[in-house]
Amino acid sequence: MNYEEKMQRMQELVELLKKAAYAYEQEDRELMSNFEYDKLYDELIKLEEETGTVLAGSVTQKVGYEVASNLKKVTHPSRMLSLDKTKEVDRLKNFLGEQLGMLSWKLDGLTIVCTYEDGKLVQAVTRGNGEIGEDVTNNAKTFVNLPLTIAYKEPLVIRGEAVITYSDFERINERLESEEKYKNPRNLCSGSVRQLNSEITAKRNVRLYAFAVVAGNETCNSKMEKMEWLRSLGFETVEYKTVRQDDLEEAVAYFGSEIKKRDFASDGLVLVYDDIAYSKSLGTTAKFPKDGIAFKWQDEISETHILDIEWNTSRTGLINPVAIFEPVELEGTTVERASLHNLSIVEDLKIGIGDKVTVFKANMIIPQVAQNLTQSGPVAPPCECHVCGAETVIKQDKTAKTVYCPNGNCPAQRQQAFVHYASRDAMNIEGLSEATVEK
Ligand SMILES: [Zn+2]
Repeated sequence: MNYEEKMQRMQELVELLKKAAYAYEQEDRELMSNFEYDKLYDELIKLEEETGTVLAGSVTQKVGYEVASNLKKVTHPSRMLSLDKTKEVDRLKNFLGEQLGMLSWKLDGLTIVCTYEDGKLVQAVTRGNGEIGEDVTNNAKTFVNLPLTIAYKEPLVIRGEAVITYSDFERINERLESEEKYKNPRNLCSGSVRQLNSEITAKRNVRLYAFAVVAGNETCNSKMEKMEWLRSLGFETVEYKTVRQDDLEEAVAYFGSEIKKRDFASDGLVLVYDDIAYSKSLGTTAKFPKDGIAFKWQDEISETHILDIEWNTSRTGLINPVAIFEPVELEGTTVERASLHNLSIVEDLKIGIGDKVTVFKANMIIPQVAQNLTQSGPVAPPCECHVCGAETVIKQDKTAKTVYCPNGNCPAQRQQAFVHYASRDAMNIEGLSEATVEK
């Protein structure tokens, strides 16, 4: 195995062993025999020795989880400014000029600054407001793919984006009580990283993608070479492309078409000059660094008409409003429904049947109703659960009004509970699909 294969195998082993240990300790079931566990454990130790790298969350590290009473505030050595933004590719071209550029995802998560000393992760701090962040070192130690120990022994400071994938977001959110549910992966990620109890962070499968080296490997003058260097140390880096002015547009289009295939949220792209000395020579304006610019996706917006509002009872009894509208083309697919999330949104949008609305795909993926141009509503929420007929209940929590079916024996709740029970994350019963359960 070469170095990269070893790193990949280590990640597999860490995930496999963590799952097995969790099932054994918390759920009282065995995913593998002790013999097999020990064999994989020994393989992991051997790889850790060979590569000089220990991934965060590795089962070989008996990091006791820690519960803090508050997150310590940390002042950043230099202010972390956010990038200037544009929606125009031409502006990116002008920005780049004759320079070589690094074009990468702008991941929609939480920016974290990680400091390593003598090859060990010693501090992880959130961006916060750019001047003052929060110390989340204990929590960062549970990130799935962040190395705790690296072969490079000089001081190293990197910036990365902590994210939770869409699939993990859905899986985790489904298990949370309705008042604890998060709106999107970024909120869940923020709530998971800025935790007082690192055991909770550990269960959230947070991943960190490095996007910049602030200190370390000083003789190297190329940002992209530094990314490759980070990868060789065991970090995962944000995906990027090398660009010149003449192929920039093509690269932007590439990312635009790739985003639909990715399991993470991205709210655009980042373009920086590759040349580090050149970047430094530019300095910053009062508001923005001069060596980089963010590109926001131009939302494709369509007008359509509301045909119906469905109220779907979920496994938890929550009744979710879904707008059904005349089919429209958005980002290359036909869209005819969008979740309205809760009663407050239905009321705020004053949505009524037949209303003319604008719809778009948030981050080019999730259909959303943007505006209601005619506002004939709002439609009233259902008085009865349409599945079991029980009288509905309206709850007001901190942020929103929601509609519930209070009947614990509601078939919708039972059915969804069975689907969940049979699913891959629970009993993993093959062939017992949602359609079969419904039958
Ligand atoms: Zn019901």
